[in-house]
Amino acid sequence: MSFQLPDMAPLLPWYEKNARDLPWRETRDPYRIWVSEIMLQQTRVEAVIRYYERFLSRLPDVRALAECPEDELLKLWEGLGYYSRVRNMQKAARVIMSEQGGTFPTTFAGVLALPGIGEYTAGAICSFAFDLPYPAVDGNVLRVAARLLNFEEDILAPASKKVLTAAVAAAQPKDSAAVFNQAMIELGATVCLPNGAPRCEACPVWGDCAARRAGREQELPVRKKPAPRKIEERTVLILRVEDRVALRKRPETGLLAGLFEPFSFSEALDKKAVAERLTAAGGFPLRVTPLGDAKHIFTHIEWRMTGFEVILGAENAETVCKNLDKSLFFAPRDEIDGQYALPSAYRAYRAFM
Ligand code: SF4
Repeated sequence: MSFQLPDMAPLLPWYEKNARDLPWRETRDPYRIWVSEIMLQQTRVEAVIRYYERFLSRLPDVRALAECPEDELLKLWEGLGYYSRVRNMQKAARVIMSEQGGTFPTTFAGVLALPGIGEYTAGAICSFAFDLPYPAVDGNVLRVAARLLNFEEDILAPASKKVLTAAVAAAQPKDSAAVFNQAMIELGATVCLPNGAPRCEACPVWGDCAARRAGREQELPVRKKPAPRKIEERTVLILRVEDRVALRKRPETGLLAGLFEPFSFSEALDKKAVAERLTAAGGFPLRVTPLGDAKHIFTHIEWRMTGFEVILGAENAETVCKNLDKSLFFAPRDEIDGQYALPSAYRAYRAFM
């Protein structure tokens, strides 16, 4: 079954008048657009601006990204999460350098073939950088399209995405692909808001919106509930000796790959149990201070953490750490901010590191 969006002609003048000034909208450089799109997949626009500028001042082009040492790359991405995305960007940059002489691909198929780039990002890069007539259908645009069409199916189902993407592609004026895509994204981000809060009174296509006419704009889009997250308990220890803190590097694959973190036990322990474990590891801690509970939510996992600051004596700190985990090492506190990429999952305990 095919669906047709209403007349979208009022959208472009609305966008001209209402578009926010965003740094990545001032460029046609596919590299810069790519960086912004990957960052925007995980973070609010206001927060991205700072990361975007810092990242590009250090890595201004594909070559710089391809050649950046991994620890520095992860440090530049610190706070944005989903580190596999920046690793994939580096893989793609290396492909561009080694197979395409450093020139960013200029076709949809060429962009889509790069590691970590899906249909949405390829459409965004090709339309924003090269004005190619491909749709860029992110969560914002899916929501707008579903409401305009009074679409009753789960919008996250692949079949729904296909139908809605086809409807958006058909509505796109072929000579203004970039502006149309930006305008649809902007409408979703600033007017056709999620969680039952669309500002229909400010919408340029208000009169033709099927969900609004049916009084269903608060209920749509339909989203199937995701499977419940797996809960993991952790007891996080900020192990300190003098002005140094114990860290370890996470494995090179899997969750938070290659990032640095404090030691933790994979279970919930109280203060007494922590002291006992440390004593068993070779040294009675000088002080164990509870740092409170914290929670971090990943896509499929939720960490429920309880933290402790542990002051160790200089005479046995190394022994304790080696017995807990051979990969632990002590890093000077004043170097942690500048040199080690730590996941934001540990944000609650960062001030004690
Ligand atoms: Fe969204 Fe309301 Fe505009 Fe419909 S009228 S597209 S629900 S903002």
